[in-house]
Amino acid sequence: MELACLDLEGVLIPEIWIAFAEKTGIEELKATTRDIPDYDVLMKQRLRILDQHGYGLPEIQEVIGTLDPLPGAREFLDWLRERFQVVILSDTFYEFAMPLMKKLGYPALLCHKLEVAENGQITNYLLRQRDPKRQSVRAFQLLNYRVIAAGDSYNDTTMLGQAEAGILFHAPQNVIDEFPQFPAVHNFDDLRNEFLKASAVHSA
Ligand SMILES: [Mg+2]
Repeated sequence: MELACLDLEGVLIPEIWIAFAEKTGIEELKATTRDIPDYDVLMKQRLRILDQHGYGLPEIQEVIGTLDPLPGAREFLDWLRERFQVVILSDTFYEFAMPLMKKLGYPALLCHKLEVAENGQITNYLLRQRDPKRQSVRAFQLLNYRVIAAGDSYNDTTMLGQAEAGILFHAPQNVIDEFPQFPAVHNFDDLRNEFLKASAVHSA
């Protein structure tokens, strides 16, 4: 049995924090783990900035609701789901992703969770576990699934390495150079092809 695991941001949808920063004009929200490697420090800063601008979850969801999946993403995902069981593994939060998951037809999503006060203020966040993408792939393998995974960034590389086959999609050149063991493609047609090539069931 084969399972396809996909990263979400940068693969099917835009980077949520960057897109949100552009929509709202809050420049400081464009910082990512490349600027602040400690994820805890980065998230605390993001939540503080949201507070300062008076953004609670309802306002944020409204803005995120105006974003769209990347061009061709919905069609690619539908194609993939006809051929594989598909699980999206993401480091985003359910509360942020949901408006976009609706536009993708609500595929299975494993990610993190926010703590939200009654007035909508985001008070904290709960990471599901450490190294969650790789741990998810390991768990699927224990269920006798052969996993083909695709992602675009550093936080995907342990998942790609754990999977029976890993594919870089839309990855920046520094990630491609650092992980030459993974094929790297940049459009959905080529990604379809890589999934077929990696599959033991379907053929390219
Ligand atoms: Mg990504």
